[in-house]
Amino acid sequence: MDAKDVLALGLGIAPPWRLVNQRLDTSRQPHVLEIMLETDRGAEFPCPECGDLCKAHDFKEFSWRHLNFFQHHCLIRARVPRTDCPEHGVMRADVPWARAGSGFTVLFEQAAMTLVREMPVLAAARIIGITDKRLWRIVDHYVDKALMGLDLSGLKAIAFDETASKRGHNYVTVFLDADRKTEPVVFATPGKGKQTVNEFKTFLKAHGGDAGGIKEAVCDMSPAFLAALGKEFPNAAVTVDWFHVVQLFTRAVDEVRKAERKLVQMPSAIRWAVLKSSDGGRLTSSQAAALAELEAGDFLTAVAWRIKEKLRWVRRAGTPHAARWRLSNFLRYAQSQVRGGPLLEAVRKALETVEKHRERILERWTSTHSNARMEAMNGLFQAARARARGYRNTATFIAMIYLIAAPLGDLLNST
Ligand SMILES: [Zn+2]
Repeated sequence: MDAKDVLALGLGIAPPWRLVNQRLDTSRQPHVLEIMLETDRGAEFPCPECGDLCKAHDFKEFSWRHLNFFQHHCLIRARVPRTDCPEHGVMRADVPWARAGSGFTVLFEQAAMTLVREMPVLAAARIIGITDKRLWRIVDHYVDKALMGLDLSGLKAIAFDETASKRGHNYVTVFLDADRKTEPVVFATPGKGKQTVNEFKTFLKAHGGDAGGIKEAVCDMSPAFLAALGKEFPNAAVTVDWFHVVQLFTRAVDEVRKAERKLVQMPSAIRWAVLKSSDGGRLTSSQAAALAELEAGDFLTAVAWRIKEKLRWVRRAGTPHAARWRLSNFLRYAQSQVRGGPLLEAVRKALETVEKHRERILERWTSTHSNARMEAMNGLFQAARARARGYRNTATFIAMIYLIAAPLGDLLNST
């Protein structure tokens, strides 16, 4: 076995292809090992369409970036024929070391995909020595391919929520299989609201799923989502995610604080104090002092904050019956507290929303699906944002969400 044979073996080259030459181009930095492949004169090639062996019509030279050879970049060059099939006409033949249209060998792409599952795309691109834009193209290809094979025929329960690709804009709505503990993401799409629910239904159908088979949906209290759910998934019982109830009041407390701050002098650390929990022991001493001052003073922000904190007590109810009783009690207590003036308007609105969705909120005590799942997803979205850093747009953000959290199976075998 000589050096050529070793290289050919490493590339998986088989007849009619053979390695005819190799040279190290030292005029470039890093140096480039060029490997030239050829076919025997008169060889026949399978038509890409039907696989029948055909004569070559003509040839054109292509090159593919291959795995580095030690510290050198490696380039494969070959003159690729176009087949002349009696039935399918003239077409560019496939080569065994690369997929059609790619400027990289399959082995190179596999190495790239292994890296991007572990680190930000930008970092992986630097390691393998290509631009992140080109690497994203590889990622997109494998993610798209794997998604095509996603089987949603058994999907019964979904949870969905929107998240921003960048702070405050470019929304993406993500749908989860609420029965899956790991890799739960089944669909992610740009935008938010009604349209995304329709798009999910189309995607579900295309992947063997049935809208009528969705028996439960966990989401927030946005009227657009709820209206679309009722229309597109009529059999789904809707559960409002507890996380969204807490979020609603956290925002309301903050609105009260902002309004009150304009009228009276407030303790300076109050913002973080009211946004954080009071029982986690995670407040700094100045925040704890601010909270004590807030409690002692006659601030409406304190009233709003106490209402929010009482949600914990509702949340801890052990049975559906107890939850119903506690929620009613909470609403009565809170409504009696917010009568004290226009500053508490935000809390009043939050209470109205809870009142309106009372049954959907209570569903969580009878639902078999964990409500914590969507909340846990926020960590994932953050990871996806970090991994897509540098070349981030809605499409790359979505590709990364799929890569990190969708059941894509063995990505590399899905060429
Ligand atoms: Zn053919």
